[in-house]
Amino acid sequence: MNFASNLLNTPIEYLKGVGPQKGDLLRKELAISKYGDLLNHYPFRYVDKTKFTKINMALQSMEAVQIIARVIQIETIGEGFKKRHVITVRDDTGEMELVWFQSIAWIQKFIFLADVIILFGKANAFNGSVSITHPEVEKYDGNKTIGNKLEPVYNCTEKLKARGINSKIILKLIEALLAQVSANDIVENIPSKICQEYNLQGKLQALQNIHFPKNSADISEAQYRLKFEELFIMQISICKTKLNNSKNKGFIFEKVGEYFNNFYNNYLPFTLTNDQKKVIKEIRVNTQTACQMNRLLQGDVGSGKTMVAILSMLLALDNNFQACLVAPTEILSQQHFAGIKEILEPLNISVKILTGAIKGKERKQILQELAEGTLNIVIGTHALFEEKVIFKNIGLAVIDEQHRFGVAQRAKLWSKNILPPHILVMTATPIPRTLAMTIYGDLDVSTITHLPPGRQAIQTVHRHHMQRASVMEFIKEQIKLGRQAYIVYPLIEESEKLDYENLMQGYEQVKIFFSEHSYKIAMVHGRQTSEERETNMQRFINGEANILVATTVIEVGVNVPNASIMLIESSERFGLSQMHQLRGRVGRGSEKSYCILMTGDKLSKDGKERIQTMVQEINGFKISEKDLELRGPGEINGLKQSGVANLKIADLVADVHILQQARESALQILQQDASLQLPENAALQNYMQQNTVQGWGKIS
Ligand code: ADP
Ligand code: MG
Repeated sequence: MNFASNLLNTPIEYLKGVGPQKGDLLRKELAISKYGDLLNHYPFRYVDKTKFTKINMALQSMEAVQIIARVIQIETIGEGFKKRHVITVRDDTGEMELVWFQSIAWIQKFIFLADVIILFGKANAFNGSVSITHPEVEKYDGNKTIGNKLEPVYNCTEKLKARGINSKIILKLIEALLAQVSANDIVENIPSKICQEYNLQGKLQALQNIHFPKNSADISEAQYRLKFEELFIMQISICKTKLNNSKNKGFIFEKVGEYFNNFYNNYLPFTLTNDQKKVIKEIRVNTQTACQMNRLLQGDVGSGKTMVAILSMLLALDNNFQACLVAPTEILSQQHFAGIKEILEPLNISVKILTGAIKGKERKQILQELAEGTLNIVIGTHALFEEKVIFKNIGLAVIDEQHRFGVAQRAKLWSKNILPPHILVMTATPIPRTLAMTIYGDLDVSTITHLPPGRQAIQTVHRHHMQRASVMEFIKEQIKLGRQAYIVYPLIEESEKLDYENLMQGYEQVKIFFSEHSYKIAMVHGRQTSEERETNMQRFINGEANILVATTVIEVGVNVPNASIMLIESSERFGLSQMHQLRGRVGRGSEKSYCILMTGDKLSKDGKERIQTMVQEINGFKISEKDLELRGPGEINGLKQSGVANLKIADLVADVHILQQARESALQILQQDASLQLPENAALQNYMQQNTVQGWGKIS
């Protein structure tokens, strides 16, 4: 079977009207290198040229209007840069002026007195008359269908426009190309039974309709078909990875043993929430199957993921394996280490920490114990991924706050035992369900939805700069009550220097309100050495400092239960998920906590919406959905690398119902034919082999 149609694989420069130079530009600017790529360069909107407006109504429209009129006067006025070409036209309701300051020579040779023309543009009132500057014009030849269309508008860069390739030219190229294309040139990648089930139109027809729609129904049908295909291919790729993953052999954790039971029955500091129990059950089932676990644990800040990690590690120990917990920073590793060591104290378990800061003899000792197997649990940073770190028998790796770790780094864990260890990835950046289906579609996902009982709600308020004095007064009162406060400044530019200056200004200002006699202020920022940062952080953790002034380097997960105030300066500059993470630093103790969002007076529409969302919403999942809505998937943490941003036509937010259909279809196909060997799936298989679908890789 000839899948790869020669025509659509033809290099773009061979297309009439392109040539080597423009071809090069199309390749570089729009990644169009073959005929087929051009067909897949879809319009991002359409200009409605199906309706005509009369001149006397032209000013009523907020948008560009289309008018048929007769030329009654032509003048070229002025000289040099003041030169302009004015054509007056009339229809049965009135007159208007069309004005050109550029391309005058061309228009002089194109439009003549008494011509009937179709013009298109945004009308303005000028000197008491109606006028349009630089309208699009076409001659009307009496054929009513002319101009009667939805005109596609194509994305195109400044560089391309400078070389004369604008949206209209792209349209012409596509028109010429489509005229040559027949159904034989087009491969249907979607198996026919799926096409039937979802009533998808033929691919060629969809391509024709998306570029040359006759009406809006054409557009939506074509979009549906093309989006479906895009999402279907993506889901096939993800689900295949997941199926392959589930075939990775893994260790069997046969039993729940002494460590787990003893701890669970005698030393658990609180009753587990139902969600925590559910997740532990999921992990338990998963680690008994002889397949490697690749599980993501999602749960909002403070939802109690650590205890799930601890119990899972005990499960590993019960089955004679070692376990490790990897955190993204030194501080977080230390906090985890301190907390977990204390909690596990009553059990006879060896727990140690290994980070980049641990050197020399101590390091050697730890490495040796790991290799010999006398060290049961090791907690640390990515230093644990290093080749020199050898385990006797690692069975489980827990990775906290996963988006900080690259896929390649995680993959290093795989080679640390004869079979890959089970992987539990934990994240407090909640991901909307739709995205979980895509970026984490190859993982099993466990979710903690409900926080442990008895948490005090954090009160979130919005304050303007003008109210600073009263905010500072409030913080003073809280400090008097023995609490501590974070004051966080944004990263303004990509420039560390500016951030630093901004932070220092803030620091000076804070000192005006909080004299050094009466208050202790610690500061952490990106310019400090990690030791300086650590020392300052430690002063705050110990309760020695009342206030921590910081850029966003105060990391996800830092735990200072006595801190009850989070003041976020210039909070309009923060993204939603970032603010939510910062807010999660407070409300960890028994005291009522506050999150104060300080902004300037003028807020953009999005900025206002973000602040409002924060004030009204405490649920991380809801916030992440709002974030996605406001920013689009391309900007969400970790998504850029995941390839979601490469979608050409589908939109993960708007097209969630198509995504669901595509996922179901993909699963249906793969369940019957996991390796796509059946003849009816041959085209799909071929496509998957030809196109390495980017980025939908394994998580670990
Ligand atoms: P996160 O999910 O953000 O990592 P942690 O595991 O740090 O959350 O838990 C946050 C706090 O909640 C900790 O102080 C922890 O001891 C406490 N906690 C966890 N689970 C429970 C529970 N079931 N009941 C009461 N408190 C809990
Ligand atoms: Mg945590």
